[in-house]
Amino acid sequence: MLLPTTFMSPRPSSALDRLRLTTMAKNHLFTIGWISPLPLEREAARLALDEEYSQEEVQYQNVFYLGGRIDQHNVVIGVQRKTGLSQAAILAEKMRAGFPNIKYMLLVGIAGGVPRYGPAGAVSEIVLGDVVVSSPRGNHGGVLQYDKGAWKDPGRLNYRGHTNGIPGDLMAAVNNFRAEGRSKTNIPEVLKQMRLKLDDKRRHQYDDPGPSRDRLFEDTYKHQGTELDDCKDCCDADHTISRSDRGDRATRLLDEPSVHFGNIASSNQLQISALERNRVQQEHEAICFEMEAAGVMEEHPCVVVRGICDYADSHKNKGWQNYAAATAAAYAKGLLSMIPAIDVAELSVPQAAAHPEIMQGRGVSITQGGSTFTGQTTISGGSVFQGNYIRRGDIL
Ligand SMILES: [Zn+2]
Repeated sequence: MLLPTTFMSPRPSSALDRLRLTTMAKNHLFTIGWISPLPLEREAARLALDEEYSQEEVQYQNVFYLGGRIDQHNVVIGVQRKTGLSQAAILAEKMRAGFPNIKYMLLVGIAGGVPRYGPAGAVSEIVLGDVVVSSPRGNHGGVLQYDKGAWKDPGRLNYRGHTNGIPGDLMAAVNNFRAEGRSKTNIPEVLKQMRLKLDDKRRHQYDDPGPSRDRLFEDTYKHQGTELDDCKDCCDADHTISRSDRGDRATRLLDEPSVHFGNIASSNQLQISALERNRVQQEHEAICFEMEAAGVMEEHPCVVVRGICDYADSHKNKGWQNYAAATAAAYAKGLLSMIPAIDVAELSVPQAAAHPEIMQGRGVSITQGGSTFTGQTTISGGSVFQGNYIRRGDIL
């Protein structure tokens, strides 16, 4: 059935106008904003997409974003220009401005993890490749900026940071995913699907490096080479603690990372001291360290997902980064499946859709990323557009 269409302004006068309007329309379809701090994290995110949209369809202020579909969601993925809290905040602001129907943000990337946490008798072990999800613990709502405070004495910072927690409905999705046990069990399957998108050579970049390359050193044993040197060439293996030495809780099958829930410590400073790591862990019940989340959480509803690529100590290196980025992206993809489809009409009715076919009065319905728009529309000023938003499966 064709619905009536009302025009209040002429058709776009040129192909450029049509392109501009089409671009606007696509931007309004995105309801999930996904922040990748690093390009390697964006590449892992790309592999997690069920469908990738063309670059021209996803841009704002002459910057291309990566856009696509994951399950029932249109997801726009942005990468930071530089690392750090303020760069993360700037990117989040730009994405909310350019894609105004973003309801939730996900910050998905890699981080340094604490090797173990929890009370005596119920200690959890984090190994490389595991995933950490921001969740309230102790006095914190899931993310804390631990370098924010007042210097009282040399070397003593009185913590005064505060960061918003995860919004209730997003936290409910995290908890449901966790309670169903799927948050762990679906990661191996998603990793497999992600690798299948690559040729043989590139696929191996995302292989689980395995326990023999998971080198946790004693807290007091510092890295012996330069930043670029791999520990296997410069550090004494006698000072490592293997996964098997750490007990059953640290033993994993390949591609079966554990998911941990707790506070994420965020700051502008790279955390590469085992002793400082332990101090922040004890003081704030933090289980991993990164440099972006606190910049986003203050202003935007966000959950943070981090794959652990090192132990936040001086032995930090790049060997696990691709795999950790992939495990984080795989978890985030599964989490999105727990979030119900978000109706953009409820979020921003006046600018829900614009499309040349509708503007030409054909009254067509348009399917985009699993959602359908149909042509009961009003255009004013050549740029503002109203549309009825209909879910996939609705009868037109
Ligand atoms: Zn080392």
